[in-house]
This record gives sequence, structure tokens and C-alpha cells, in this order.
Amino acid sequence: MRTYFIAGNWKMNKTFGEVNTLLSQLKKMAAEVSGVDIAVCPPYPYLSLAVEILKDSDIAVGAQNMGWERSGAFTGEVSPDMVKDVGCTYVILGHSERRKFFKEDDELINKKIKLAIASHLLPIVCVGESLHERENGDTEQVVKTQIEGCLKGLQTDEIEKITVAYEPVWAIGTGKTATPEQAQQVHEMLRNWIKNNYNREIAETIRIQYGGSVKPDNAKELLSQKDIDGALVGGASLDAKSFIAIIKSCE
Ligand code: PEP
Repeated sequence: MRTYFIAGNWKMNKTFGEVNTLLSQLKKMAAEVSGVDIAVCPPYPYLSLAVEILKDSDIAVGAQNMGWERSGAFTGEVSPDMVKDVGCTYVILGHSERRKFFKEDDELINKKIKLAIASHLLPIVCVGESLHERENGDTEQVVKTQIEGCLKGLQTDEIEKITVAYEPVWAIGTGKTATPEQAQQVHEMLRNWIKNNYNREIAETIRIQYGGSVKPDNAKELLSQKDIDGALVGGASLDAKSFIAIIKSCE
């Protein structure tokens, strides 16, 4: 049985004071929850603060991205070792906003995934089709190509460290959600891909999150699908009450 995993992607939101408030509320509320893995992914400047506030809780901290080298002359970048050093457990890689605005492709994401694992971080690897691709009937092919490219060359002991997040791009931040059936179909395809390319045991244990306008009122139905093991939550993770309501949908 896989443990549900709910992660909040805060994107470029919140100030120092707001981080304090949100995490203090979340920590209190999450103390009543058991049997769900929880992570928050604040912007880089607040990672240390988040780790400090959450140190005696079960909520893990993740980064939203990381650089593709360990150190050196890469102005503005943050290395995986730094992310690990400040106390992060997870790192989101391949988010569609990174692909769109920063032109990250599967090759670069693959490099980052390997480096993240070598730096003892657990990657949350995002894949998902655009609206145009879905309407053209290309969803399966697009998602398969992304997962193949992102996981290329990963060994069995590396793949075990990964969470996959299926995030249809057309559902991110739009209020449109994939129906539970649409999401389940892609999740099942991803799990089969892992089974065929690795083995049954890994396919059964790897967690596949759904992401794309997950809210308290749609979470339960999505999470009740056989192959949906959690959620990567954007907008609704910015408010403690709605994030905790999503987390409680797993119970
Ligand atoms: C995301 O950014 O990963 C996301 C799923 O955002 P939202 O929940 O706001 O659609």
C-alpha cells in the first residue's frame, strides 16, 4: 500500500511574515493528521526559515527547482548541495512553468534529476500535456516521451527515490481539473511504463501525484482513483485551511 503524498508548490508567492503565519498554522493543523506524507516548497529565500519552523513536525520542505551543476560561475543559480544543505528533502523538477518560461527540456531535467539524487534529494518529476496536445489526441505520446526523456539512464536504486507528478498543463492555475477518469488513465499508463521499463515492484511502490487545480472540493474524488497517490498543489497550498483540507481528503 502506497502512502499518500501531498506537496504544496508555492511558486513565487509569500513574504517573510506570511511564511511565518502560514507555516505556523499548517504545523498546528497537520499535527492532527496521520498517515500522509506532506511537503511544502517555498521560494529559495524562505527554505531555511521553513526548515526551522517545521523542525519538530512531520512536514518536509522542498525546493521548486535547482541548478544543473554542483557549484561554480552560474550567477543566480542555486545548487542541489545548497538545497540539501539548508535542510530540504525534496526538489520539484521539470515543472511546466520551468519548461515554458525557462526553456527547460527533458535532457536538462534528466541531468538535474541525476544530480539531485546524487545530492540526496528526492525529486518530484513533473510531466503533462498542453491543451493543444490533448485535443489532438497526443496526451499519451507526449507524456510517454517526457517520462522517457526525464528518466533516461536512471538505475533501479535511483528510480526508487522519485515521485512522478502528472500535471496536465491546461489544468495548472486555470481552475480546470482533469476528470478523475482522465487523470487515472494517464496515471495507469505511467505506472505501466515504469513496470515495463523497470519492474513490477517499483511500479507498485512509486508514487504518482496529480497536479492541476486540486482544491478541497475535488481532492477526494481524484485521490480515490487507483493510481493517484497524492497531489502537487499550487494555489490551494497558499492557504493553510485549504491545504489541510486537501491533506485530510487522503484519510
Ligand atoms: C502546480 O503549480 O504544480 C499546480 C498544480 O498549480 P495549481 O494547483 O494552482 O493548478
